[in-house]
Amino acid sequence: MAYWVGLTGGIGSGKSQVAAAFADAGVPVIDADVISRGLTADNGKALPEIRKQFGAGVFDQEGRLNRAQLRDLVFRRPEAKQQLEALMFPLILSEIKTQQQKYAQAVYGVIDIPLLIERPEFMALISRVAVVDTSEQNQIDRVRRRSSLEDTEIRRIMASQASRKERLLVADDVLPNNGTVQALVDKVGRLHRYYQARFLYLSRVNP
Ligand code: ADP
Repeated sequence: MAYWVGLTGGIGSGKSQVAAAFADAGVPVIDADVISRGLTADNGKALPEIRKQFGAGVFDQEGRLNRAQLRDLVFRRPEAKQQLEALMFPLILSEIKTQQQKYAQAVYGVIDIPLLIERPEFMALISRVAVVDTSEQNQIDRVRRRSSLEDTEIRRIMASQASRKERLLVADDVLPNNGTVQALVDKVGRLHRYYQARFLYLSRVNP
Protein backbone atom coordinates (compact mmCIF):
# COMPACT_ATOMS: atom_id res chain seq x y z
CA MET A 1 0.00 0.00 0.00
CA ALA A 2 1.29 3.45 -0.86
CA TYR A 3 1.37 6.19 1.76
CA TRP A 4 -0.24 9.46 0.74
CA VAL A 5 0.79 13.02 1.48
CA GLY A 6 -1.90 15.71 1.27
CA LEU A 7 -0.45 18.80 -0.40
CA THR A 8 -2.21 22.07 0.25
CA GLY A 9 -1.75 25.84 0.36
CA GLY A 10 -3.69 29.01 -0.35
CA ILE A 11 -4.28 30.35 -3.85
CA GLY A 12 -0.98 31.48 -5.41
CA SER A 13 1.13 29.86 -2.69
CA GLY A 14 2.99 27.73 -5.26
CA LYS A 15 1.14 24.46 -4.74
CA SER A 16 0.96 23.56 -8.44
CA GLN A 17 4.67 24.30 -8.76
CA VAL A 18 5.38 21.90 -5.86
CA ALA A 19 3.06 19.22 -7.27
CA ALA A 20 4.89 19.45 -10.61
CA ALA A 21 8.27 19.05 -8.85
CA PHE A 22 7.06 15.88 -7.08
CA ALA A 23 5.75 14.54 -10.40
CA ASP A 24 9.14 15.30 -12.04
CA ALA A 25 10.76 13.19 -9.31
CA GLY A 26 8.53 10.28 -10.38
CA VAL A 27 6.04 10.53 -7.51
CA PRO A 28 2.40 9.73 -8.38
CA VAL A 29 0.37 12.93 -8.05
CA ILE A 30 -3.43 13.00 -7.83
CA ASP A 31 -4.95 16.43 -8.46
CA ALA A 32 -8.33 17.07 -6.80
CA ASP A 33 -8.94 20.13 -9.00
CA VAL A 34 -8.45 18.11 -12.19
CA ILE A 35 -10.86 15.50 -10.81
CA SER A 36 -13.40 18.19 -9.96
CA ARG A 37 -13.18 19.70 -13.46
CA GLY A 38 -13.53 16.23 -15.03
CA LEU A 39 -16.69 15.58 -13.03
CA THR A 40 -18.27 18.73 -14.46
CA ALA A 41 -16.85 18.48 -18.02
CA ASP A 42 -19.00 17.17 -20.90
CA ASN A 43 -20.53 13.84 -19.82
CA GLY A 44 -19.05 14.35 -16.33
CA LYS A 45 -20.50 12.20 -13.57
CA ALA A 46 -21.69 15.23 -11.54
CA LEU A 47 -23.82 16.74 -14.32
CA PRO A 48 -27.07 14.76 -13.83
CA GLU A 49 -27.19 15.67 -10.13
CA ILE A 50 -26.30 19.33 -10.83
CA ARG A 51 -29.14 19.52 -13.36
CA LYS A 52 -31.51 17.89 -10.87
CA GLN A 53 -30.62 20.25 -8.03
CA PHE A 54 -29.87 23.51 -9.85
CA GLY A 55 -32.07 23.19 -12.93
CA ALA A 56 -31.57 23.61 -16.68
CA GLY A 57 -30.72 27.32 -16.14
CA VAL A 58 -27.08 26.51 -15.36
CA PHE A 59 -26.69 24.62 -18.67
CA ASP A 60 -26.34 26.07 -22.16
CA GLN A 61 -28.36 25.07 -25.24
CA GLU A 62 -25.96 22.25 -26.08
CA GLY A 63 -26.34 20.80 -22.59
CA ARG A 64 -22.93 21.97 -21.38
CA LEU A 65 -22.53 23.28 -17.86
CA ASN A 66 -22.45 27.08 -17.82
CA ARG A 67 -19.64 27.51 -15.29
CA ALA A 68 -19.95 31.29 -15.11
CA GLN A 69 -23.65 31.00 -14.32
CA LEU A 70 -23.04 28.38 -11.62
CA ARG A 71 -20.14 30.38 -10.14
CA ASP A 72 -22.33 33.45 -10.00
CA LEU A 73 -25.17 31.54 -8.33
CA VAL A 74 -22.84 30.05 -5.74
CA PHE A 75 -21.26 33.45 -5.07
CA ARG A 76 -24.65 35.10 -4.51
CA ARG A 77 -26.17 32.32 -2.38
CA PRO A 78 -24.02 30.69 0.31
CA GLU A 79 -26.54 27.85 0.72
CA ALA A 80 -26.12 27.03 -2.99
CA LYS A 81 -22.36 26.79 -2.39
CA GLN A 82 -22.95 24.31 0.41
CA GLN A 83 -25.38 22.37 -1.74
CA LEU A 84 -22.89 22.18 -4.61
CA GLU A 85 -20.08 21.09 -2.29
CA ALA A 86 -22.28 18.43 -0.67
CA LEU A 87 -22.94 17.10 -4.16
CA MET A 88 -19.33 17.27 -5.40
CA PHE A 89 -17.27 16.10 -2.42
CA PRO A 90 -18.45 12.47 -2.25
CA LEU A 91 -17.80 12.16 -6.00
CA ILE A 92 -14.31 13.69 -5.66
CA LEU A 93 -13.51 11.45 -2.68
CA SER A 94 -14.61 8.35 -4.54
CA GLU A 95 -12.55 9.28 -7.63
CA ILE A 96 -9.45 9.95 -5.50
CA LYS A 97 -9.85 6.51 -3.88
CA THR A 98 -10.13 4.87 -7.32
CA GLN A 99 -6.93 6.62 -8.46
CA GLN A 100 -5.11 5.69 -5.22
CA GLN A 101 -5.71 2.01 -5.95
CA LYS A 102 -3.83 2.34 -9.25
CA TYR A 103 -0.64 3.27 -7.38
CA ALA A 104 -0.75 0.56 -4.72
CA GLN A 105 2.84 -0.44 -5.59
CA ALA A 106 4.34 3.04 -5.10
CA VAL A 107 6.25 3.89 -1.91
CA TYR A 108 4.22 7.05 -1.54
CA GLY A 109 2.16 9.53 -3.54
CA VAL A 110 0.92 13.10 -3.29
CA ILE A 111 -2.68 14.30 -3.41
CA ASP A 112 -2.97 17.96 -4.34
CA ILE A 113 -6.07 19.19 -2.47
CA PRO A 114 -6.61 22.96 -2.19
CA LEU A 115 -9.41 22.54 0.40
CA LEU A 116 -7.73 19.88 2.54
CA ILE A 117 -7.87 21.91 5.74
CA GLU A 118 -11.43 23.12 5.18
CA ARG A 119 -12.81 19.64 4.46
CA PRO A 120 -11.80 17.13 7.14
CA GLU A 121 -13.23 14.19 5.15
CA PHE A 122 -10.12 14.40 2.94
CA MET A 123 -7.87 13.85 5.96
CA ALA A 124 -8.89 10.17 6.03
CA LEU A 125 -7.14 9.66 2.67
CA ILE A 126 -3.68 10.74 3.77
CA SER A 127 -1.04 10.07 6.40
CA ARG A 128 0.74 13.41 6.30
CA VAL A 129 0.04 17.06 5.45
CA ALA A 130 2.51 19.23 3.51
CA VAL A 131 1.73 22.95 3.30
CA VAL A 132 3.17 25.45 0.82
CA ASP A 133 3.40 28.74 2.63
CA THR A 134 4.09 32.26 1.45
CA SER A 135 3.17 35.80 2.50
CA GLU A 136 -0.26 37.08 1.54
CA GLN A 137 1.35 39.83 -0.52
CA ASN A 138 3.27 37.19 -2.52
CA GLN A 139 0.02 35.26 -3.06
CA ILE A 140 -1.70 38.36 -4.45
CA ASP A 141 1.26 39.41 -6.64
CA ARG A 142 1.67 35.91 -8.10
CA VAL A 143 -2.03 35.37 -8.82
CA ARG A 144 -2.24 38.82 -10.39
CA ARG A 145 0.67 37.97 -12.68
CA ARG A 146 -0.82 34.58 -13.57
CA SER A 147 -4.42 35.66 -14.24
CA SER A 148 -6.65 38.63 -14.94
CA LEU A 149 -8.24 38.53 -11.48
CA GLU A 150 -8.64 41.86 -9.67
CA ASP A 151 -7.06 42.29 -6.22
CA THR A 152 -10.51 42.39 -4.59
CA GLU A 153 -11.44 39.09 -6.25
CA ILE A 154 -8.14 37.50 -5.13
CA ARG A 155 -8.74 38.74 -1.58
CA ARG A 156 -12.28 37.37 -1.65
CA ILE A 157 -10.98 33.91 -2.62
CA MET A 158 -8.29 34.12 0.08
CA ALA A 159 -10.92 35.06 2.68
CA SER A 160 -12.98 32.00 1.73
CA GLN A 161 -9.97 29.71 2.28
CA ALA A 162 -8.38 28.65 5.57
CA SER A 163 -5.93 31.20 6.97
CA ARG A 164 -2.15 30.70 6.87
CA LYS A 165 -2.21 30.15 10.62
CA GLU A 166 -4.88 27.42 10.39
CA ARG A 167 -2.92 25.63 7.67
CA LEU A 168 0.35 25.81 9.58
CA LEU A 169 -1.34 24.33 12.67
CA VAL A 170 -2.28 21.21 10.68
CA ALA A 171 0.99 20.92 8.71
CA ASP A 172 3.45 18.09 9.29
CA ASP A 173 5.83 19.63 6.77
CA VAL A 174 6.04 23.24 5.59
CA LEU A 175 7.50 24.38 2.29
CA PRO A 176 8.17 28.12 2.60
CA ASN A 177 7.95 29.75 -0.84
CA ASN A 178 9.32 33.26 -0.44
CA GLY A 179 12.45 32.83 -2.58
CA THR A 180 13.05 31.71 -6.14
CA VAL A 181 11.25 28.87 -7.92
CA GLN A 182 14.59 26.98 -7.97
CA ALA A 183 14.87 27.29 -4.17
CA LEU A 184 11.36 25.80 -3.91
CA VAL A 185 12.20 22.94 -6.27
CA ASP A 186 15.32 22.18 -4.19
CA LYS A 187 13.19 22.02 -1.03
CA VAL A 188 10.82 19.58 -2.74
CA GLY A 189 13.84 17.41 -3.63
CA ARG A 190 14.92 17.27 0.03
CA LEU A 191 11.38 16.52 1.23
CA HIS A 192 11.04 13.81 -1.43
CA ARG A 193 14.20 12.05 -0.19
CA TYR A 194 12.91 12.24 3.37
CA TYR A 195 9.48 10.86 2.38
CA GLN A 196 11.04 8.01 0.41
CA ALA A 197 13.17 6.95 3.39
CA ARG A 198 10.38 7.41 5.92
CA PHE A 199 7.61 5.65 4.00
CA LEU A 200 9.90 2.83 2.91
CA TYR A 201 10.78 2.27 6.55
CA LEU A 202 7.12 2.41 7.62
CA SER A 203 6.08 -0.05 4.92
CA ARG A 204 8.74 -2.50 6.15
CA VAL A 205 7.80 -2.32 9.82
CA ASN A 206 4.08 -2.20 8.94
CA PRO A 207 3.71 -4.46 5.91
P1 ADP B 1 -1.13 27.63 -6.57
O1 ADP B 1 -1.21 26.31 -7.30
O2 ADP B 1 -0.81 27.47 -5.13
O3 ADP B 1 -2.31 28.54 -6.80
P2 ADP B 1 1.06 28.16 -8.40
O4 ADP B 1 2.01 27.04 -8.19
O5 ADP B 1 0.20 28.11 -9.64
O6 ADP B 1 0.12 28.43 -7.11
O7 ADP B 1 1.88 29.54 -8.36
C1 ADP B 1 1.22 30.78 -8.64
C2 ADP B 1 2.04 31.55 -9.68
O8 ADP B 1 3.23 32.00 -9.05
C3 ADP B 1 2.45 30.68 -10.86
O9 ADP B 1 2.44 31.48 -12.02
C4 ADP B 1 3.88 30.26 -10.50
O10 ADP B 1 4.65 30.00 -11.63
C5 ADP B 1 4.39 31.47 -9.70
N1 ADP B 1 5.34 31.12 -8.65
C6 ADP B 1 5.28 30.10 -7.77
N2 ADP B 1 6.34 30.13 -6.93
C7 ADP B 1 7.08 31.21 -7.27
C8 ADP B 1 8.31 31.79 -6.79
N3 ADP B 1 8.99 31.26 -5.76
N4 ADP B 1 8.77 32.89 -7.40
C9 ADP B 1 8.10 33.44 -8.44
N5 ADP B 1 6.95 32.95 -8.95
C10 ADP B 1 6.44 31.85 -8.38
